[in-house]
This record gives sequence, structure tokens and C-alpha cells, in this order.
Amino acid sequence: MTTRFDGTRDVQRAIERLARRLPEPLEEMAWISYNYLWTWTPGGKDLFRRIDAYRFQLADENPVRFLTNLPERDLLRAATDEMTLARLREVARSMEYEMQRPVEHRRTGGPVAYFCAEFAVHSSLPVYAGGLGVLAGDILKEASDQALDLVGVGLLYRRGYLHQRMDLSGWQQEYWLEANTDQLPAVRVRGADGLPLKVTVPVWDGELSAHVWRVDVGRTPLYLLDAELAENDALERWVTARLYEGSRDIRLAQYALLGIGGIRALDAMGITPGLIHLNEGHGALASLEVASRRAKNSSGERPSVASLLSSERDRFIFTTHTPVPAGNETYDAGQFFSVLGGALDEMQLPREEVAAVSRVDPAAVGEPLGLSPLALRCARSTNAVSERHAEVARNMWRPLFDATEAADVPITYVTNGVHLPTWMAPNMRALLGAFFGPDWERHAHDPGLWRHVDEIADADLWRARCESRLKLVELIRRKATVDRLARGEDLGYVEAALDAFDPTHLTVGFARRLATYKRLDLLLHDPGRLRAIIDHDQGTQFVIAGKAHPRDVEAKEVARDLLRLKRDLDVPNRVVFLEDYDLRVALRLVAGCDVWLNLPRPPLEASGTSGMKSALNGGLNLSVLDGWWAEGYNGQNGWAIDGTVDDDTREKDRRDAAALYDLLEHDVKPLFYSRDDHGVPVGWIARVRESLRTLGPMYCASRMVSDYVERVYR
Ligand SMILES: *Cc1c(COP(=O)(O)O)cnc(C)c1O
Repeated sequence: MTTRFDGTRDVQRAIERLARRLPEPLEEMAWISYNYLWTWTPGGKDLFRRIDAYRFQLADENPVRFLTNLPERDLLRAATDEMTLARLREVARSMEYEMQRPVEHRRTGGPVAYFCAEFAVHSSLPVYAGGLGVLAGDILKEASDQALDLVGVGLLYRRGYLHQRMDLSGWQQEYWLEANTDQLPAVRVRGADGLPLKVTVPVWDGELSAHVWRVDVGRTPLYLLDAELAENDALERWVTARLYEGSRDIRLAQYALLGIGGIRALDAMGITPGLIHLNEGHGALASLEVASRRAKNSSGERPSVASLLSSERDRFIFTTHTPVPAGNETYDAGQFFSVLGGALDEMQLPREEVAAVSRVDPAAVGEPLGLSPLALRCARSTNAVSERHAEVARNMWRPLFDATEAADVPITYVTNGVHLPTWMAPNMRALLGAFFGPDWERHAHDPGLWRHVDEIADADLWRARCESRLKLVELIRRKATVDRLARGEDLGYVEAALDAFDPTHLTVGFARRLATYKRLDLLLHDPGRLRAIIDHDQGTQFVIAGKAHPRDVEAKEVARDLLRLKRDLDVPNRVVFLEDYDLRVALRLVAGCDVWLNLPRPPLEASGTSGMKSALNGGLNLSVLDGWWAEGYNGQNGWAIDGTVDDDTREKDRRDAAALYDLLEHDVKPLFYSRDDHGVPVGWIARVRESLRTLGPMYCASRMVSDYVERVYR
């Protein structure tokens, strides 16, 4: 057997280095710190918080950074605290148990290599932007829970994460912070010679070099390519500077590194994937690298690129997330080849043949080139991310498949899900656990399990909801204070944040990327009605968060309008915009909100996942019947707004805004505030129960990953 240089030993060395810094009784914290499994192991986060909650937070909840910088006296104190040591043993044992379960090789003939441009594993690893990354992160975690043989492949963006500040005029300002890779729970993978493994991909007229980092997510390794190397010039280094970089040339170079470099990195590590899963088209150039290897191994005349791709089709899976043609980026041939020409020459793939497979119509010479057509062609199976999205995608890609009927287009769907142990708040997880039995998370997709929801007393469910709401209100007060200070508001307004929100009031949330089609502006359509809904003894409070893409002026305008309206309404403490939405804020929001809004313009929401997170926490969805909600809503488990497509967008927006106000005013509020003698909203809780019972088993990642295994990977 050949030794694999897949980073296992390098992780081990990093653990040993960290362990040497720790007092002996705490040594096990070193390996815990180097595996993100602690983030979803019960008690994991509390373990670090016990030692020093404040410093842990300052360290971005990154345990490697936290322990590396913790003063020795604090370490020594922790090492003599019996409670801490007991917790440590518990967490270490649970994690060990997880790590030692045998892998199920479900006949894929090697690991599934999961390619994605972003991964949201934890807020301390800032290589994500939004929903796509969260989905990818959740898949890695669930793959670990199911002992599925899978590895992630992505890029290590050094200044990956866009931070958001709103200025006094309500305009979004962006800034980027450089990640300190030395203190990430990530290690550079080294080869047999002990030097960092290096892969190269020709881009532009030069050669782009990259190192490979390994991050352990439970049993799933995530490999991230990194171009921040001395031998690269400034432009080349920028390739892994930022996620979804504004420059199209640089984006193409990123896709080359991800796709071609990703395959080369796996090869250099001795990993031969049985399947290559392209999560969105960004990694599709991987298919060309695989095709070129096949060509080199075949004798006689070189087969065409199209036939090479079809010979390798069994190895590729494609998941599309983009329901709009405009979202599928295209490039004119000149730009495409100025970035990728060198790589194609090296792979000995003729440009005109590559161009043909990157067009919807291979024969249409003037048509721009894109990675989505390439992904659709190279994959033996393409899936959308909800039933409705599959319909949209079939229509959209009908020309590529030369099909007269959309029904003949071979695009299936696997509806998204969310990683339950990550997204369900600990109090809710414990409450359900008491009724669902031990180890229940592993069977979370079993509807039978969720029937036990009926056995939980109304008052207990309500208490859990109130605890989560209170925690959210505390976060809002803290965060709104800091946001207002940073914005330079006057001190009176800053101090007012301390009274922001009422922990007993109906709390409605809206948080996601502020793309225009998500229609946050529906909320602002009728300020009079909005005010009436907010301003009442039995009032409603709105918490809103999200980032606009730096170049999306329209989305920034909506955020500004919201902040202005909030002032005009004179209800500063009933509407809050939380800046710098990230995974950490998301966790609290989805746990604490009573109602979760999603207002996309149909049919543009491929799936949406934040509403699933809310549902797992006993929140109720009020959403447009698009994406996942079109299949999740059953009339009793939340509220719905009409999901039909209307080309008259103004009229559609007006109607949907009115429907939203009507529901909030006549249905949602009365139900929330109608209480029994003990102050429990019995009707509300009945709906929460229905939501948990019907949505819990369907929209957890355990159902999603099982679907991928059964319906796609096999
Ligand atoms: C879940 C999540 C998203 C995705 O939200 P959608 O409702 O699918 O748009 C985006 N960002 C963060 C931080 C999330 O946690």
C-alpha cells in the first residue's frame, strides 16, 4: 500500500504542537480544537466558554487561536478545575466515539469529492458568503455523521469574508479582514519530502502555484487551495484573495484553480475519487482535467473532448442552484481563453472543442461560454435543489438537451436540508431528545420519531420558545449598541438600544443575502400598515440582517430605505437591522424568531434554507410558495403567500405586500397573543407542533444526504 500524503500526519503534528503548550490534564483539548466536530458535539462550545467566555468570543470562537493566546495562568487554572476536566472528558469521549465508527463505503469506488466555491463550516473559517456555502458546510458535517466517504474541495480565501458596516446615511460599507492562517484549525498538507504539497495550473500567461490546506470537519476532510505563495506574482496571489471577486478574469482563474487544481491536489495526495460532485458549476473545469488524463492514457488517435467527457460521465454529479439564466455566468471566447488558454494547451485539449462543450448549442460559434453547460454535459446526473426549482431548471436547460418538452430534460431534484445538530439550539435539542430517545439525531429523517412532538407539554414547548427569544433579545441589545456606536450615532440613541425589543413580543425575522429578488422591500410598501402592526401593546418587532453584494446598488438602496423608514416610523426599538450577518448571528436569529419571513419573487428562489433552520427551532414560516416552501407548506404548518409567476412585477409586489400585511395583522398576531389561563398561546403551539412534526424529518440534512446517497450517488 502506498502512503497517502493527505494531511493526516500534518494535522497530527499540529495537534502535538498545540498539546505541548497545554498543561497535561488539558492535552486532549488540542485534538478537539483541530476538528470542527466540537461545534456540533453537545457541550463542545461550553467547554471553551467555561475557561474564558470573553476571550473565546474575541478569538472568533476559534479554539486554536483561543488556546494559543490564552495566558498560562488561565490554562493552569482550568487544568485544576474539576468541572472543566469532567466536561473535557465527556466531549472527548463523544468525539472519539464519532470518529471511530467505521466508514460506510457505499459502493462509490472511492470517496465522493465534493467541489464547491464556498464552505460555511463555522464563523472562524471565513470562506463563505451565503446559502450555497452553508449548504456545502452542512453536507460535510452530515457526511461525517453518516460515516460517508466524502472529501470537500474548495479555496482558502485569505481575505474571504466581506464585513459590513452601515454608515450614518444607511449606506452599506464593506471591508475585508485578512485571515490569520497560522491560527486557524487548518494545516498545510506536506508531501513525502516534508515540503508543502504544491499544485500548479497555468493561468493567463503564467503558472499559478497553490498549496493545499486540510481542515477536519468531523470525519470529513476539507481541502482548500491557497495561492498566497511567494512565487506567485501579486495578481496570481489575488486569485485566492476574495470570494466572488468582482473581476471576471480573476473569477475565471479561481474556477481554474478550484476545478483543475482541485483534481491535481487530490491526485497529489493519493486520493482517487469514485465520484466528483460539482456543487454549482464553479468547479466544472475539473471535468476537463479528468478528460485530459483519459486522453493521455488512451492509445491511437485522440478522441474529441465531447467523447472524452461522455466516457467519464459516470464519475460526475452536478447540482445546480441558479434558477436565472443571468446567474449562470458566461464569457466571450476571448476572455475565456486569455485566462484558460494555457491550461487547455497543457491538457492538450483543442480550444474550439472546449468552446463547443461550454455552449448551450455547441454549433453556435458566437454564443458565449459558461461553466454550467460544461457541468450539465459532463455529469451523469444533474439535480436541482427543490421540486419547483427542478421544473424551472428543466425549462431553462431544454435547449441544451435538445428536448421539445421540459419533461424530457433529465434534471431531477434533491431538496436541500440543514444540519440539525448545527442549527437546532441546544435547549430545543435537549427538549426533543428527552422524548425522541438517545442518539436520535442520526435518525432525524424518520417521520415516526417526530410524532413524539405530540407528547411534549404545551407549556414546555412554549418555555423553550421563550428562552430562545430572550437569548435573541439579549444579542440584539448588545449588538445594536455596538453597531450604533460604530456608526457614530449620538449617545442617547446608542443607549436606547439597551431597551431594544421586548422578550415577550412577537418577533419576526428576515435575514439572508440582500439580493433584490428576495424582496425585503415588500415590508416597506405601506409604512402606515407596518406601523400599525408594530406599534401596539401586543406589538410585533422585526429583526433584519443581511449583506448586499458590494456591486448591488439596488440592494443597498433597499437597506438604506429600511433604516430611513425605521427612523420615520419613530419605532427605533421595534425594528432592528443587525449588521454583519454571519453564521453566528444566523444561529441566534433562526432560534429566537417566532416567525421567519421569506419573500422571494417567484420562481427565483431555488430552495432557501434559513426557513428550515427556523422550523427546526419551533419558528413558523411565513413565506412565498417558492423554493422549498412550495413543497413544505401544508396549510397548517405556517403561512403562505401566493407563489405564481407574474411578469408584471410591480403589481405582483403590491399584491404580495398586501398579503403579507394581512397575514401578520389578521392571522399571525391574533394567534400569538391569544393565551390560555397560564399565558400559553395554545393555538400557536399547535401550529409549532405541526411545523416540527412535518418539516423536521423532511428538511434536515440527514434526509438530504440520504437522498443523495440513494438517488444520486448510487
Ligand atoms: C442559512 C443561511 C443563509 C441562506 O439563507 P436563505 O434563506 O437560503 O437565503 C445565508 N447566510 C447565512 C449566514 C445562513 O446561515
